[in-house]
Amino acid sequence: PPPNALAQSFGQYYSRQYPLPPVAQRYDGIAFRTATKQLGYHPYPTPCAINTVEGFQGRHACVNCGFCNGWGCPNGAKSSTLTTVLRSAVATGRCQVRSECYAFQVKLDATGRAKSVLYVDRNFAVQEQPARLIILACSAVDTPRLALLSACSTHPNGLGNNQSGMVGENLTTHATPSVVVQITDGVHSWDTYRGAWNTISIDDFQNLSSFGDLPGSVVFPRGGVVSAVGPSPGYPLGSGGPISLAVGIMKPPGLYAGGGNTFSPTGAWGAGLMQAMASGYGGAAYVLGVCEELPQANNRVDLDPSVRDVYGFPVARITYTSHPNDLAISEYVANRLVAVGDAMLASIGAAGSSAAAPTQSMDEAPRYFVHQHGTMRMGSSPATSVVNRYGQFWDIPNLFVADGSLFPTAGGYNPTHTIEALAHWVASYIAANGASVMAQTE
Ligand SMILES: Cc1cc2nc3c(=O)[nH]c(=O)nc-3n(C[C@H](O)[C@H](O)[C@H](O)COP(=O)(O)OP(=O)(O)OC[C@H]3O[C@@H](n4cnc5c(N)ncnc54)[C@H](O)[C@@H]3O)c2cc1C
Ligand code: SF4
Repeated sequence: PPPNALAQSFGQYYSRQYPLPPVAQRYDGIAFRTATKQLGYHPYPTPCAINTVEGFQGRHACVNCGFCNGWGCPNGAKSSTLTTVLRSAVATGRCQVRSECYAFQVKLDATGRAKSVLYVDRNFAVQEQPARLIILACSAVDTPRLALLSACSTHPNGLGNNQSGMVGENLTTHATPSVVVQITDGVHSWDTYRGAWNTISIDDFQNLSSFGDLPGSVVFPRGGVVSAVGPSPGYPLGSGGPISLAVGIMKPPGLYAGGGNTFSPTGAWGAGLMQAMASGYGGAAYVLGVCEELPQANNRVDLDPSVRDVYGFPVARITYTSHPNDLAISEYVANRLVAVGDAMLASIGAAGSSAAAPTQSMDEAPRYFVHQHGTMRMGSSPATSVVNRYGQFWDIPNLFVADGSLFPTAGGYNPTHTIEALAHWVASYIAANGASVMAQTE
């Protein structure tokens, strides 16, 4: 494969080359590359986990249809779990997938070891599945919820809560400073309908301490990755997606358009709406940061005291307040990225403007919350973490976690590759030590 620019610039973080060449750049990605280079940054192709070579691992190559984000891939090029790990596991004949089942309790035996999972099957019948070893991987909202739902006489506040009391705490997401790069000349188009959602990034905003004009309100100068992103037809509700765009335009003037959009609503319907859609969709490209938000104990998942799900169990209640540092970072990065947008427009000779999306706290404007981590944090002491460095409950040796809830901090990247790496890390530990793990008692 061709050399990876990131490996060249920041090679110390990479032990070996990626197995495949990067996905094709979109038009806005090429402009982003030109613009960021001009401004002294270091663009590199975003690692996308998308198959770019026909036949690799028996799958098709990406055809740049643009439906990655929010939809299944029509030809299996996107390396989602369904087409990779699950398929391989089922093919061994030693893995059974029971879909449409809802786990609601992990049961313990008299020695304190996990012994079974209670679940409701697709016919609404309660089943009990005995197991020698159990892994929770319901993501950062439902894994702590399941641990809390599993409260019993020896773990009255939920599994994992006896020592640290931290189950559900330190929920984190990402600040998402963004800039809309709007073409207004009616001639050019970013042509963002096709291709993968995120094809090019820079890491120059990861450590903000080197930026001389950082405001005093930033106490922890950690930013994150910045990328040129969609809209894409597969992401209709995201910034600039067709539905989010139309809904934003149709709102009464004076309201926030929502969805990260920075234009002002006009309330247009009919022909006016169609005209606004024609200039907005395809005319807007986005520069998006994924910046670290600080873990806070009060940002958490717990069991809702009154709302129940369809099975009668308490739903997860999410409590989240943005830290002032999160807001300061977001505002600073967004304002810096306006220059990137302006340089993108100049690079293609288009008339237009770049505008930073408003920075709002989660309390003011609940935004979409697609990255979730931190609620079952891993660590080196049972006093300050829920599980150990292998995702193993401190006091239930045959119970593990393998998802984003392990993250002690959010990091400044889209999280899924790290979640996958952690799943491998946990699985490798179990594979190497399974027999002794299963023999351990508290
Ligand atoms: C719109 C959107 C865009 C995103 N874009 C990106 C991106 O660009 N890059 C990136 O890195 N990440 C992105 N993410 C985040 C990414 O999807 C998650 O990080 C990733 O899916 C987490 O994987 P997981 O297997 O840990 O959890 P999940 O994929 O959430 O899987 C958890 C599974 O557990 C099941 N489950 C939950 N509770 C129970 C229960 N009680 N019983 C039985 N089953 C249960 C759920 O049904 C689900 O199938 C995006 C997310 C969204 C929603
Ligand atoms: S653009 Fe995305 S959805 Fe379309 S083929 Fe490529 S990986 Fe699959």
